[in-house]
Amino acid sequence: MSKLNTVFNLDKVINTNSDLTINEEGLLNIKYSGTTASDESNSQLKGLITRDGDYLHIKLEVKFSLNNECSRCLKITKSEESIEVIEKLYLKNQNEYDLDFNNDLIDIYPILSEKVIDSISLVTLCSSECLGLCSICGKDQNLNKCSHEEKNLKESPFSSLSELDL
Ligand SMILES: [Zn+2]
Ligand SMILES: [Zn+2]
Repeated sequence: MSKLNTVFNLDKVINTNSDLTINEEGLLNIKYSGTTASDESNSQLKGLITRDGDYLHIKLEVKFSLNNECSRCLKITKSEESIEVIEKLYLKNQNEYDLDFNNDLIDIYPILSEKVIDSISLVTLCSSECLGLCSICGKDQNLNKCSHEEKNLKESPFSSLSELDL
């Protein structure tokens, strides 16, 4: 499997007003606080890039798999995601993604990564009842609930974790 292509020649779109059909498949490696998008199964990128006057219209659908890391117990759960990317970029000026339309080849990766990261929620839980990891020994409390004595706290290699303000 190869990396998802996000570099397109927009010369014709910009200079002759012809539409560019996008249909790509490949690995999309976007990571955000433990959660990773499509780094081991193919993602799909489909849609159209067109020009309308001084604007470039990007309308794409991105399908990808997500490895969601639970914010409490760090367990990974997989999910299939599909997002719409709709952008209208002014051609005559700088744009928020710093795409330089004087070049023929434009990499739309910054747009994709922003939209994918937007779709990843900051706090992912494997279950709303997830008990997380033990702050003393680091074991998954969903599997087996620890009952430590308070005096062991200082001796534990994980005791510093509970003192960190994360
Ligand atoms: Zn969990
Ligand atoms: Zn423990």
